[in-house]
Amino acid sequence: MQTSIDPAEAEALARDAADPLAPLREEFLIPPHGDGEQVYFCGNSLGLQPRGVRAALLDELDDWHRLAVEAHFRGRHPWMPYHEELRAPLAELAGALPHEVVAMNSLTVNLHLLLVSFYRPTRERHAILIEKHAFPSDRYAVASQIRFHGHDPAEALIELDGDEAGGAISEAAIARALDQHGARIALVLLPGVQYLTGQAFDLAAISALARARGCAIGFDLAHAIGNLPLALHDSGADFAVWCSYKYLNAGPGAVAGCFVHERHAQAALPRFAGWWGHDPATRFQMGPQFHATPGADGWQLSNPPILALAPLRASLELFRRAGMARLREKSVALTGWFEALIRERLDDVLAIVTPREPARRGCQLSLRVKGPRDAGRRLHEHLHARGIIVDWREPDILRAAPVPLYNRHIDCLRFVRAVQDWAAHGR
Ligand SMILES: *Cc1c(COP(=O)(O)O)cnc(C)c1O
Repeated sequence: MQTSIDPAEAEALARDAADPLAPLREEFLIPPHGDGEQVYFCGNSLGLQPRGVRAALLDELDDWHRLAVEAHFRGRHPWMPYHEELRAPLAELAGALPHEVVAMNSLTVNLHLLLVSFYRPTRERHAILIEKHAFPSDRYAVASQIRFHGHDPAEALIELDGDEAGGAISEAAIARALDQHGARIALVLLPGVQYLTGQAFDLAAISALARARGCAIGFDLAHAIGNLPLALHDSGADFAVWCSYKYLNAGPGAVAGCFVHERHAQAALPRFAGWWGHDPATRFQMGPQFHATPGADGWQLSNPPILALAPLRASLELFRRAGMARLREKSVALTGWFEALIRERLDDVLAIVTPREPARRGCQLSLRVKGPRDAGRRLHEHLHARGIIVDWREPDILRAAPVPLYNRHIDCLRFVRAVQDWAAHGR
């Protein structure tokens, strides 16, 4: 019998044993694979279910049963101020003041609501600057807003292409675009972390560039919140939006969030209003005039979906326990170890397109599969059959996200070995 001990295995197990955040994995339901568990590297797409979610949901169902309408005030987590319970942990993750954030709607809805307020086109200045490979929903949203205001996206939508190897966009390229077009740009919309390349952007530097040229600046943080520590207030951005089903682990279609900078808290901006954005002190006088709640709350439309917020409350509790600084510290180490292993063992199979500098990425590595056109799809299928869950983006990108809340070094090694196997036999 021949046994070959992989030295990386001992190292992975030692690193996992020494990880102070390792117990957090127990707080998640890891999908099964055969007699074991999946290697789940898809937290960038749908985060895993925290164990506490089921109880949090059942609490609300019980309160609905026992208290019905009175649960608005007497529930264990009273429904009337329910979103208030989410404010502190969300503000912490966003790096914002409490009244700068609110949990509501879904990401694209929030993007539209904030574009109504912050995209204020004039005849001379009506363009929007986005990235060329923006997430489709963001592109649809801004193009439709441009049309809604009577302009033509063919002229008014400026798309910034990646200028670095792998498709990343340098800060210099953003500065050049703003130098060239700044006077006609009304609004800049960029991601915190680019969904395809995994590139992280410097929100403060970009905000300063945009604001120096008189442009409003908003960020889509779908792939950034819960992945990177954020400092939205200090960044000076006008607004930001995010969803909660990726790194925030709040479940499919979870209630999203948004940030509106304090300097707009009392501003008389145009907005699409609803009763839940009305000042709560006088909301139930049911008067005909809308008086906005100061801060992000003033953008709410409807009374919050409690059954959809309960998982978010359970999930944010885990972030509060872990602390974003400690999660990030683990994340840098985990993704760095994963990257080194890929470079060492898979150089002929995978090219890493995500920037190398830890400051320019979160936990996700985007991997371009070398070889014939359908190699990537076949590798993806090979991994999936072995319980290694990564996601596949046409034409040739695998995205693998070791999430520090529940992934381990041994998961990274299982991925690398399965790819080695495929390269040696299956390819
Ligand atoms: C995931 C994601 C979305 C999803 O939008 P929903 O409104 O939540 O469906 C939008 N934009 C970006 C950049 C994303 O990564």
